[in-house]
Amino acid sequence: AKSGGGDRIVVASREFRSQLEQRRLLQRDLASAVARGEFQTVFQPIVEVGNLRAHGFETLLRWDHPDLGRLSPDFFIPLAEENGAIVEIGRFVLDRALSIAANWPDPLTVSVNVSALQLGDRAFVAHVRQSLLRHAVAPHRLILEITETVLIRNGNAKSVLDELRALGVGIALDDFGTGYASMGYLRQYRFDKIKIDKSFVSTMVDEGKSAAIVRAICGLARDISATVVAEGIETEELLALVGDAGCQLGQGYLFARPMSALQTTLFIERSGWG
Ligand code: C2E
Ligand code: CA
Ligand code: CA
Ligand code: CA
Repeated sequence: AKSGGGDRIVVASREFRSQLEQRRLLQRDLASAVARGEFQTVFQPIVEVGNLRAHGFETLLRWDHPDLGRLSPDFFIPLAEENGAIVEIGRFVLDRALSIAANWPDPLTVSVNVSALQLGDRAFVAHVRQSLLRHAVAPHRLILEITETVLIRNGNAKSVLDELRALGVGIALDDFGTGYASMGYLRQYRFDKIKIDKSFVSTMVDEGKSAAIVRAICGLARDISATVVAEGIETEELLALVGDAGCQLGQGYLFARPMSALQTTLFIERSGWG
């Protein structure tokens, strides 16, 4: 029995080591994945809750790994943040997003997720400005989505956000309600949009409290002239609930899953811009 237990430990540590090795290998692959064209951007519509017209799209990243297939950003973004590859990847995403948005009707927005390391990059603001110019996209059509973590990890987040705002770019507070101090950040910074996390939105059906909180967030957002986006709308029932709570914008599988750049054109035509 003793030696059996020992074997198990050996096996477990071998598995652990191979997990570490896999992470290391993936991190090595990440560094060259942009150059190899392995990243794809997909776009998920954000619609007006009142009339279901397209308001814009959020850009979401996918990695088509040569051996492992399509990987989820929840899995590889943390690896890219750990080894710094996210800075180059983030530039690629911004560039791709703006090149696609340039083809949409002018008021439609394009949202891009920004991680902490990018916001800390000294060249970030200059790069945003140059990309907007290169693709001739009006700054107000770009929305940068940041989370509470991004704010926590950046001592000078405020001055960077002020510079971006001076460019005319919109700022969204992402994953609202999942952190610890979300309310505090609303007082410290100015946001154009507040995105209520899907984990929160999805409980609205069963829990009256969640509905009351979402209503309160919408009231608060009105006071600071921000627009609320409810994430993770999967059913008609939820759509009605977030509408009643006062959310102007919604995003979720009910409207559409993330789609290719090509498909966005069709979605736009079908949703009132044709
Ligand atoms: P997020 O920014 O909160 O993005 C929303 C996520 O919810 C997306 O997952 C989207 O596909 C998913 N989603 C949308 N509607 C629904 C729905 O109705 N139900 C459910 N269950 N899910 C829905 P995705 O694409 O897997 O992205 C996961 C996370 O990875 C994102 O969360 C974001 O934090 C990060 N991410 C994605 N792309 C990028 C990027 O280019 N840069 C950075 N830094 N992070 C990214
Ligand atoms: Ca987001
Ligand atoms: Ca989110
Ligand atoms: Ca998220």
